[in-house]
Amino acid sequence: MDIEIIEMADRKAKFVLKNSSPAMANALRRTLLSDIPKMAIDKVEFMTGKMQGEDGKDYESITPLFEEIIAHRLGMLPVPTDLELFSPQSECSCGGVGCPSCQIMYRIMKTGPGTVYSSDLQPLGGPEAEQYRIVDEFIPVVELTADQGIYVFATAVMGTAKKHVKWQVCNGVGYMYKPVITIDPDCASNEEVLACAEICPNGLEVKGKKLVVKDPVACGYTKGCIEKLSEIDGITVDWDDTNFLFKFETDGSMTAQQALDIAVKKISEEARNFAAEIEAL
Ligand SMILES: [Zn+2]
Repeated sequence: MDIEIIEMADRKAKFVLKNSSPAMANALRRTLLSDIPKMAIDKVEFMTGKMQGEDGKDYESITPLFEEIIAHRLGMLPVPTDLELFSPQSECSCGGVGCPSCQIMYRIMKTGPGTVYSSDLQPLGGPEAEQYRIVDEFIPVVELTADQGIYVFATAVMGTAKKHVKWQVCNGVGYMYKPVITIDPDCASNEEVLACAEICPNGLEVKGKKLVVKDPVACGYTKGCIEKLSEIDGITVDWDDTNFLFKFETDGSMTAQQALDIAVKKISEEARNFAAEIEAL
């Protein structure tokens, strides 16, 4: 299994999975979707009743939304995840009680009127914990009216999307077989065929008054062009089931490169374990 990177941005990746099979492509898709561990808020404690604001005034710790809705919204916030620093609670040396190696604690203390944003989650644990601030600052959580306040403690732990979507790192994970575009030499100078260079400016070009394939990979990533090309007389589109054009995005809890590295490592580990089990039988 080889991977050729086409685009690797912070939260977005496009690559070609080469010399592989549909089974392997699907295994990579499923691993990216549901098997990459990350931190997400799993426990929220609401401190209700009277609270004092920074201005010294008394507020009521109550919000216009049900606590369940706020807890769900907090769960979906992208918590930055470094797998070197944290482990799942089930595997932690604390025995799952909760310690700095398996959980991140946050506090929200804000008074109205105004909107509570993801940036209002203050990681607890001193200056070192600042690195665990929610990666997107302006995700709205709840809007407070005058005299209302929110006083909450939230705990993030590690999990995977097999249990809940809040632990899903990657989204928009998709792949297609690499297109194989053949242009009939007798038709390559037809007006309709030449016009295809405009449908797919990344994959096709006109050379010496004939349409030629410039880059089939780039063609596969041009939105909707394959469907249009296959309707043109003189152009045939086939699919190569050993090479796959992949793309995915992350929620920001880790970079696209980190997510891809972890997914590939997980697949090889699982394949090795499976082979060992077969051998033992
Ligand atoms: Zn622990």
